[in-house]
Amino acid sequence: MFPELLKHEFERFYSTKPAGIYFCPGRVNLIGEHIDYNGGLVMPCAINMGTFLVMAPNTCGKFRIRSLNFDEHLEIPVADRYKKIGGLWYNYPLGIIDRLAVAGSRPGGVDLLYFGNLPIGSGLSSSASIEVLTAFALNDYFGLGYDRLGLVKLAKETENHFIGVNSGVMDPFAVVFGMKDMAMVLNCQDLTCKQVSFGLDDRILAIVNSNKPHNLAESKYNERVRECNVALGLLNRYIRVENLCQVTPCQLEAYKDSIPDQTIYNRARHVVEENERVNKAAKLLKESNIGAFGELMYQSHHSLKELYEVTGIELDSIVEFSQGWEGVIGARMTGAGFGGCAIALVEKDAFPAYSNALIDFYEDRIGYKPSIYQCAVSDGVNWLRC
Ligand code: ADP
Ligand code: MG
Repeated sequence: MFPELLKHEFERFYSTKPAGIYFCPGRVNLIGEHIDYNGGLVMPCAINMGTFLVMAPNTCGKFRIRSLNFDEHLEIPVADRYKKIGGLWYNYPLGIIDRLAVAGSRPGGVDLLYFGNLPIGSGLSSSASIEVLTAFALNDYFGLGYDRLGLVKLAKETENHFIGVNSGVMDPFAVVFGMKDMAMVLNCQDLTCKQVSFGLDDRILAIVNSNKPHNLAESKYNERVRECNVALGLLNRYIRVENLCQVTPCQLEAYKDSIPDQTIYNRARHVVEENERVNKAAKLLKESNIGAFGELMYQSHHSLKELYEVTGIELDSIVEFSQGWEGVIGARMTGAGFGGCAIALVEKDAFPAYSNALIDFYEDRIGYKPSIYQCAVSDGVNWLRC
């Protein structure tokens, strides 16, 4: 349905036929939060909601960039370099076009039309989705020669250096390498990745959007990155490690006094213990011990609440409610936090009652409703058809 609608709109806007249609998913992170920029293990999977792109080359020597999700659009002549223009959405594709140009790949003028069915700005990585989608489509259509890992790096560079967010490698990696019914165990230091079976069978992977805008997320995210660097610097006076995830929980305990600031110590403790939890979670999935996996999800959320302080009353309410509901296996916030989404693993039979009761509970406590989606674990970015 979306591709047909998008093709129709493309022809209306640009008075030309589409030449390619592409889709890139969003992602949820099952466990391993605020770990990727600390060089540890994360466990994301791609989901069946994401961003569509219809594109065609043009002869007017411009990039024309539109999205059905936003009114603002851009027309900009083909050039060697681009600069970020204010804070608007089209900087994401423009940033990719700039990075490609820097690397010597300069496709001529192109018309681009996007549409996303992911909640935008809610921690499901719509930003990596639109970045990777742009890079994948231009690379595919113009034969620019990037492999999949090259696209991950391009998207990360764009977000870090063009958009100005210190995000890690997990998001672009997850939406590039996602596989149907598989979770990835990704080592963010060396980018090695193992796919672990994550068939849902008679369970539902629910996404609960708190519908709290995560306005604070960017500045607080960058603050956590800085705090982790401070902890690393202090620990490095005693043990030589390249990143916090190379520190074991025992080592952190042994060198506790090297981090006198309790807040900084708490941040480090979350990172070190969360990394361990991902290791355990991967083993549990292999053993199909989904009950114990769910327990780790709760532990992860608790640590993000108490030690890393990135949850807030909205996400805490969702998880607290879920933990008390029969048939919920596990729940936690996912993404950067400060609002955004939580995930819950729920027995299929229990889901309808759980979902209705959660909406009432949340609205009572918070004052507005959450949105709840059932999602499937899906493949990464791809060409659809034309
Ligand atoms: P998240 O990645 O958690 O969804 P971000 O704040 O990192 O949140 O990225 C959201 C931004 O990405 C949006 O504000 C917008 O600029 C851009 N974006 C994502 N999806 C789309 C889309 N379909 N159309 C246009 N811009 C989009
Ligand atoms: Mg993002």
